[in-house]
Amino acid sequence: MSNHANRVKWSRYVWGAWVQPKHSFCSWLVFCGSLLTEDKLIQRGITDSSKCHLCEQHRENTKHLFFECSFSKQVFTGVKVLLSITSDTRNANWEWKILFAQCCRGGVVVEILKVYISATVYHLWAERNTRKHSGKKTAARIILEKVLKETKFYLQHSYQ
Ligand SMILES: [Zn+2]
Repeated sequence: MSNHANRVKWSRYVWGAWVQPKHSFCSWLVFCGSLLTEDKLIQRGITDSSKCHLCEQHRENTKHLFFECSFSKQVFTGVKVLLSITSDTRNANWEWKILFAQCCRGGVVVEILKVYISATVYHLWAERNTRKHSGKKTAARIILEKVLKETKFYLQHSYQ
């Protein structure tokens, strides 16, 4: 599939009617592969370390950060429980395909799903940046609480 076709496909996911613009933008960068993850900084000669700032176990790249990282999975699992999404967590690629397939449909439930997923992506990237630049770590359950609280507040106050 061409890059253009990929971008069109992802745009159906990130540009939800209710998704906050800052969350949409972050998700857009993720799916365009434009976030400056450690693997890209190594390619540019800016750093020589590629350790994931969230789990500190694996090389950091976009696929790992949002689709495979054990820390990210803890947060996404909490969101999925809230939304009553059941899927096979043993296969991250398959799980995401199911989620994206759902996001390409219409309806209120799907719009809410997009809101929560985009908020989760945004807060995981923010946590990654905080850890990288200040060393301060926030637990996965606190990130999850932030996502849920912010999303609930946004939905309640924007669409009454
Ligand atoms: Zn990781």
